[in-house]
Amino acid sequence: MQIDVLTLFPPMFDGVFGSSILGKAREKGLVTFRTVNFRDYANNKHNTVDDYPFGGGGGMVLKPEPIFAAVEDLTSGSDIRPRVILMCPQGETFTQRKAEELAGERHLMFVCGHYEGYDERIREHLITDELSIGDYVLTGGELPAMVVIDSVVRLLPGVLGNEQSAVTDSFSTGLLEYPHYTRPAQFRDWTIPDVLISGHHENIAKWRREQSLLRTLRRRPDLLDKADLTPKERDWLRRMRDRETDEGPG
Ligand code: SAM
Repeated sequence: MQIDVLTLFPPMFDGVFGSSILGKAREKGLVTFRTVNFRDYANNKHNTVDDYPFGGGGGMVLKPEPIFAAVEDLTSGSDIRPRVILMCPQGETFTQRKAEELAGERHLMFVCGHYEGYDERIREHLITDELSIGDYVLTGGELPAMVVIDSVVRLLPGVLGNEQSAVTDSFSTGLLEYPHYTRPAQFRDWTIPDVLISGHHENIAKWRREQSLLRTLRRRPDLLDKADLTPKERDWLRRMRDRETDEGPG
């Protein structure tokens, strides 16, 4: 996968793209990162990329020319049409489903904004997706782009080893993940659930599924409507919900 980032602050990405799983994915040749300062595409004497808004008001607006020129330059000569993703608090809220969808692409291009906003023509004529990482406002699109890139790259085949498999991650299954324990089996006064050291794989899988369902019921019941559950599981959850309403969480 080729990932391009258009930003006014390329050095912000050095640590993130060079470390941990993303750094390893790059070393293995599974992903190529390119950070481009779109100020380099400004067509004026002072390399200005922003200007005052028509109609007045506070804040500066990113001009269309440098961003169009950068995207067009980076895509020229390529047959692959990239997804051009605008980081924006007004965009579609980023989810694991979206990460899975983007992980199927070959070329992603992220446009990181700053200041008050973008000239609307960038949205209308250049962008394929607008993504928000949540209902809050950051100073720039760099951190949101890093969030999206990290969650997409970890899904690419070969990036995670078995020991970090993404298959059971929260949201991948439509549910929150079950609780984990590791050695020691007794820490201070606290032990772990017996089933986990029973060696009985079927019972362990059943316990994990139930814990996953319970955790989702308690923390994110909104996810259960869309989750892929058997009628038996829905029935079990209904009983748990009734019991917890009567007695409180167990
Ligand atoms: N005036 C804009 C508005 O009300 O929608 C907010 C601009 S914000 C200060 C500057 C830039 O930060 C945005 O253009 C976007 O690139 C990025 N940004 C801020 N919050 C974000 C979020 N929640 N998700 C994605 N990008 C965000």
